[in-house]
Amino acid sequence: MSSDGCPVLIVLEFLKGFAKDKMCGKCLPCMLGTVRMIDVLERITNGKGEEEDIVLLDEISSYIVDTARCKLGKDAATFVKDSLSSSKNEYEEHIKDKYCAQKSCETIVSYQINSEKCTICGACKEVCPEDAIVGEKMVSYLSDNKPYYIKNKKCTKCGECLAVCEADAIEIV
Ligand code: SF4
Ligand code: SF4
Ligand code: SF4
Repeated sequence: MSSDGCPVLIVLEFLKGFAKDKMCGKCLPCMLGTVRMIDVLERITNGKGEEEDIVLLDEISSYIVDTARCKLGKDAATFVKDSLSSSKNEYEEHIKDKYCAQKSCETIVSYQINSEKCTICGACKEVCPEDAIVGEKMVSYLSDNKPYYIKNKKCTKCGECLAVCEADAIEIV
């Protein structure tokens, strides 16, 4: 996994490097707080972030800034705080939409239907175990058929729809 420009992944890799190479473990706020922040960031980059995670990261990093014994720990926590405030949108996209704009977080992907390829056959909707696909089959005498699309919040990325689509219209993005 490459961090590229994804701020969430950049902070995660920075903290992992800090924990491995610089953190001495002599004070609890820095040691426990850093480990906890790594856990939370891993969850977010794996598409399992929860709404309260941004506040949680902010609280932990603020606590470390206030209580850590040395500048190393305070600076590492400040890096997290700065990222949270400068890239709040990106954190929210990861958590709420399970979306990584940089496509750096490999487990955050979404299934989408390419409307130009879709033949409106309905096979995907029939196999979707999560009821995540919306739309109506093509009826030749109707001009207002509802195109198929995938509700990402319901989609578990099981791949069933991909397997049945003969038009190759379902794409992982
Ligand atoms: S704040 Fe400094 S002293 Fe405390 S664990 Fe972190 S690196 Fe060590
Ligand atoms: S199976 Fe493929 S072609 Fe058929 S409705 Fe779904 S996306 Fe469209
Ligand atoms: S990947 Fe699975 S859950 Fe998501 S839309 Fe396709 S069939 Fe439904």
